Amino acid sequence: MPRGGVAQPYGQPIGSPLKGASSKARRRRAESWEGATLPPIFQTASHFHPTAESLSQTFAGQTTDHIYLRLSNPTNRILENKLALLEGGREAIAMSSGMAAVANTCLALLRAGDEFVTGNSLFMSTYVLFTKVFSKYNLTARMVEPTDVKALAEAINEKTRFVFMETIGNPKLDIPDLRQIAQIAHQEGIPLIVDNTLATPYLCRPFDLGTDVVLHSTTKYLSGHGAVVGGIVIDRGGFDWSQGRFPDFKPFIDRKGPLALLDKIWREHHINFGTTQSPFHAYLTMLGLDTLALRMERIMKNASLLAGYLRGRSEVAWVNYPGFKEHPSQTTAARQFQDKGFGGMITFGLKDQAACFKFISGLRLIYHLANLGDCKTLVIHPASSQYVSFDEGTRQDLGIRSDMIRLSVGIEDVEDLYEDLEQALKAGD
Ligand SMILES: *Cc1c(COP(=O)(O)O)cnc(C)c1O
Repeated sequence: MPRGGVAQPYGQPIGSPLKGASSKARRRRAESWEGATLPPIFQTASHFHPTAESLSQTFAGQTTDHIYLRLSNPTNRILENKLALLEGGREAIAMSSGMAAVANTCLALLRAGDEFVTGNSLFMSTYVLFTKVFSKYNLTARMVEPTDVKALAEAINEKTRFVFMETIGNPKLDIPDLRQIAQIAHQEGIPLIVDNTLATPYLCRPFDLGTDVVLHSTTKYLSGHGAVVGGIVIDRGGFDWSQGRFPDFKPFIDRKGPLALLDKIWREHHINFGTTQSPFHAYLTMLGLDTLALRMERIMKNASLLAGYLRGRSEVAWVNYPGFKEHPSQTTAARQFQDKGFGGMITFGLKDQAACFKFISGLRLIYHLANLGDCKTLVIHPASSQYVSFDEGTRQDLGIRSDMIRLSVGIEDVEDLYEDLEQALKAGD
């Protein structure tokens, strides 16, 4: 587990406990936030500059001082440093939502007429963005089975600018082999972008597998309490943007070298689209990060127990959980997640849609709502909610069955969860 939840003076990703630290380091820690153990919330739209020269230098990019909240903020920077450290990346930009992180990253990479390759099992809004919105601007998403590396390699052509994958597909729960995909992308001279929301850096660090850029919806497990909406883009700074395929990156390479993409995302898209994260949301996300490891451990233990429980119930027709031996992604998951677990998502089938509705309406403890990655257990019937306006063919492609329930497992006592599931299953039978 990467070190998490350790207070650090803002602007400096220290992240290590004070044990054995010099007295100077101890003094610096005490002085940096007046000794506070939680980061300060800088709730300010703008920052004072003592001289005309200092503001001019900051606008020219010669300092990392703050100017205006839409551009950067000290509280957000603490979060950016923490998450870059957790993922093993170099720098990060916090954004207003996970979708802002996805949209800004892809748009910074694409020019009109360009293509990219992605999985056909994507988060719902990402799917809509890639298929319905990008197509208006002549940007083409080529979709393949995320676990079919041969199809992925064949979908890459001279117009392809990147490969985009999710660590755990939702709701199919299929798991791509990121190391293999990174190799294929790099052979073609293009980067791999990974949305690591469902795995979190606790379970998987995509940079260690060759990924170039990692994104998150911090709304989910990272903040962990269903209290905020936020996103982050993290750059490893390891991709060579100067090798010919990205001539439009030249000014950004000149300015930021290997962090050219992050600079392009920030300069062209983030600040002009106004996708700022609220410093209060950044603060709440950091509060959540302190317990990420504990929550993930408990969530994944509960998920494994609940998947087994559901499989044993006569009302349940089928259960999809990547931890089952016979699951097609089980071996990739075990290797890629280093046997730490298989995530906190389960899907399962009841007799039909009517049985799903009865089951959901009968739940007393488990929350019925559209979110995931909360410390509370959440349930939804995707076909009639997020995917209600999709046509049947697309729903089939995305694995959205009308008899399917999706469970995002929380940290409750598993006995309480069994009890709630049991009484609702009986009610729905
Ligand atoms: C929720 C989610 C998003 C979008 O994040 P928001 O914070 O809701 O904008 C993107 N990708 C994945 C995998 C998600 O689960």
